[in-house]
Amino acid sequence: MLFNELVIVFDNLSKTSKRLELTEILSNFFKKLKCEEIGFITLLCMGKIFPASEGKELGMASNLMIDAIALASGSEKNEVKKQWNIYGDIGETAKKCMSKKKQVSLIIKELSIKELKEVLYKLPEISGKGSSDLKLKLVSKLLSMTDSLGAMYLTRIMIGSMRTGVGQGVIRDALAKAFNAKPEDVERAYNLCADYSIVASKVCSNPELIINPKIILFSPINMMLFLKAQSVKEAFERVGRPARIEVKYDGMRAQIHKKDNEIQIFTRNLDNVSNQFPDAIQLVKECVTANTIIFECEIVGFSPKTNKPLAFQFLSKRIKRKYEIETAIKEIPIKMFCFDLLLLDDKNYLDEKFIDRHEALKKSINENNNIMLAKGIITKEDSEAEKLFNEGIKEQEGVMFKSLIAPYSPGARVGHGVKLKSHMKELDLVITEAYYGKGRRKDWFGSFTLSCYDTENDKYLTIGKLGTGFSDEQLKEMNELVKKSIISKDDEKVILSPNIVVEVEYEEIQKSPTYSSGYALRFPRLVRIRYDKKPDEASNLFMIDELK
Ligand code: ATP
Repeated sequence: MLFNELVIVFDNLSKTSKRLELTEILSNFFKKLKCEEIGFITLLCMGKIFPASEGKELGMASNLMIDAIALASGSEKNEVKKQWNIYGDIGETAKKCMSKKKQVSLIIKELSIKELKEVLYKLPEISGKGSSDLKLKLVSKLLSMTDSLGAMYLTRIMIGSMRTGVGQGVIRDALAKAFNAKPEDVERAYNLCADYSIVASKVCSNPELIINPKIILFSPINMMLFLKAQSVKEAFERVGRPARIEVKYDGMRAQIHKKDNEIQIFTRNLDNVSNQFPDAIQLVKECVTANTIIFECEIVGFSPKTNKPLAFQFLSKRIKRKYEIETAIKEIPIKMFCFDLLLLDDKNYLDEKFIDRHEALKKSINENNNIMLAKGIITKEDSEAEKLFNEGIKEQEGVMFKSLIAPYSPGARVGHGVKLKSHMKELDLVITEAYYGKGRRKDWFGSFTLSCYDTENDKYLTIGKLGTGFSDEQLKEMNELVKKSIISKDDEKVILSPNIVVEVEYEEIQKSPTYSSGYALRFPRLVRIRYDKKPDEASNLFMIDELK
């Protein structure tokens, strides 16, 4: 298939925001595709290039894109920048510059999806001396192999800002419609591999394949999430008595896949972080006795001096770190607290009761000081639960209450478990705009628009402005992240693709006409940047309606 055929589809999608119409356009398109190409094209339709589990990023900064547009269109770099300032949108800038292309080069060949995939998959592998030049050449060649509209979409794909309004819900429904499958079967298949490129290829070649989906080792399973409770009583009401109550550790949730000596680690976001945690891999090698296993744990950073747990911010440095891993291991050693089992020796444990999953997990680990089961008790008594809760908030974040008889429901925030924390006035929100600072800080972004997720419409709705709570280091970090996500800009602010998730504390939620969510947060304060959360996992409008 040619890239330009896909561009027509993108353009049709961009003309509507109605979910049913988006689904219709895509399902008609999916029907025409070959099963070997539908996987990658499905990702492109969602504005993605790689499935999250591959842990790859294109890392195309706006500046490199500007250089590529200049090279491909034969314009001066300053001219492209000028156009960017006029249009505010880098995709539109590419379209404009390419339509005014000075040197009319012979288009040797139109860009095919296959070639596009080859180049996009090659880009993250290029490193070392001369790598910027090589990337620049490749990207500008791609731009010159399509027309100006194609260049606009190509640019948007590469900077991660497609904005076609196509989220996971639309993809699920379009695939179901195209191949006569049930949306709930498509969703279940997705939750088991967390990769719509795999689901699309399967349902295309044989819709029966997704009815009883199998767990695929090394392809992460969408993690089961938990509801919140406000008190011990409410927590017991949700999960039943007796329940297992465990310390809620403040670390990184990890899903570990092991087959013999091959071990991989995935985050809650399904990113593959195996390279960053060779120490965790070594622990699993030494202490997990099962040959084939998928289990979950919380990885917590500890101070090498005091051997006390470190706040998540420290560990998050390790998640981002690509180089000098050995130094990072020494600076922030880890411990692993294991709490759930999904697969053991080829037996799928998802539908087993939690108490049985826990028992089997216990038998599969030779516990020691660095890898162990999460501390917990089984009880039906409020007083015992209160006691562990008080310990839990002193040592860590709180406690988890888990139903003894519930299965593991991938990808669902169900009441099979609830969390109880010390202070619950916090939300995870997405940064969608950043404002330039004033005076001395005018080259910095100093305040940020916070948005919540509108699950129904796959949109982000504003809910407040964040201007306080940053350490200097966090502000620097936010500025770096913002720069990578700019879609458009004016004199006062930049509009961002919704990539950055932050946890904020606040005093109150009020009704307000100022923000598109209809609510405003009073005194929001940054707690931390949530690298481990996807934007569509941020607090949603439904949750906020409930809190109000
Ligand atoms: P939060 O923002 O409260 O950390 P979350 O939104 O990231 O939560 P939830 O599913 O709501 O995710 O809360 C559960 C999280 O708590 C898990 O994702 C996991 O990372 C962490 N956790 C810590 N200790 C445990 C434990 N013993 N059992 C289960 N999860 C635990």
